[in-house]
Amino acid sequence: MKYVDEYRDPQIAHALADQISHKVTRPWVLMEVCGGQTHTLMRYGIDELLPSQIELVHGPGCPVCVTPLEMLDRAIRIALLPNIIFTSYGDMLRVPGSDSDLFQAKARGADVRVVYSPMDAVGLARANPDRRVVFFGVGFETTAPANAMAVWQAHREGMKNFSMLVSHVLVPPAMRLILSSPSNRVQGFIAPGHVCTVMGYREYEDLAKKFRVPIVVGGFEPVDLLEAINMLVSQLEEGRAEAENQYVRSVSYEGNLPAQRILSEVFEVSRRKWRGIGSIDQSGYRLREKYASFDAERIFGMEDVTAEEPKECISALVLQGLKKPVDCTAFGTRCTPMTPLGAPMVSAEGACAAYYQYRRHAG
Ligand code: SF4
Repeated sequence: MKYVDEYRDPQIAHALADQISHKVTRPWVLMEVCGGQTHTLMRYGIDELLPSQIELVHGPGCPVCVTPLEMLDRAIRIALLPNIIFTSYGDMLRVPGSDSDLFQAKARGADVRVVYSPMDAVGLARANPDRRVVFFGVGFETTAPANAMAVWQAHREGMKNFSMLVSHVLVPPAMRLILSSPSNRVQGFIAPGHVCTVMGYREYEDLAKKFRVPIVVGGFEPVDLLEAINMLVSQLEEGRAEAENQYVRSVSYEGNLPAQRILSEVFEVSRRKWRGIGSIDQSGYRLREKYASFDAERIFGMEDVTAEEPKECISALVLQGLKKPVDCTAFGTRCTPMTPLGAPMVSAEGACAAYYQYRRHAG
């Protein structure tokens, strides 16, 4: 298949791994930001193909993993209210809140439905004028434009029965937090290709310059990731710290300008809480005042619902690249994909689930 097969070619992959081996002269710690990239690295054994000097740590770019516990509690509470149709992407249904999850809310009688687009939720609101339809809008810059479009459309139609529970976070502030930490180990980043398809990579230039860290926008296939690692190692070995783009077939410097326009029409940048990590200034989106009547948190009075993370889960350290999933005492025993304690074990993009699925714990 064009644009897939050539990025999974074992010969090209091995040639890139050889190039990296010949180039590297000392240990480097690299972080792939996106959970989709983590899964490719594990699935194709790229971590095992690389020379031992290259250590890969896994970043916070799994949207399910960083959605705060209290947002899940808010979602469950809203779903259980009378006359609600609560809509969400399927991967949010099994993510544990403090006491239960959306599947259990459904079992208790809540009308929880999986949709494939926020516009499906708008359609449900249109078709059910006597019900209140709520969409759980989570994720990074990648999913935010479609969510913004849904709110914009509902506003345009003057809908009174559609709202969105917004939990959107942004990648660059999380990278800044990791780089600002005194315990930071990351020396180079593979930036998330999907996010940069929307936002471009202009904003990564400042990060690269300020923290003297190379950043390469990477795709999601094995050859993409090996190329990105090769570019990072070249920069590190040559003492450069620049923002570069490996994923040129999808990402431009400026990104998708119409998508950015709808984002800034509907959302404004605000302080946001990240699961396990805590609040980060200017790290997410909230609805602008013009669209406040679509804000489910306000409509249903959920702003004061808070929650405590389970003590045993070290996902905050995993998501900042300070620990590996196998360092967690619950990994593979009390915490498995069937009995997850934390979101990184639930989500298909979570680092803990990737380690479990591809048996990085089996030695
Ligand atoms: S293995 Fe489970 S408990 Fe441990 S960090 Fe991962 S999600 Fe949390």
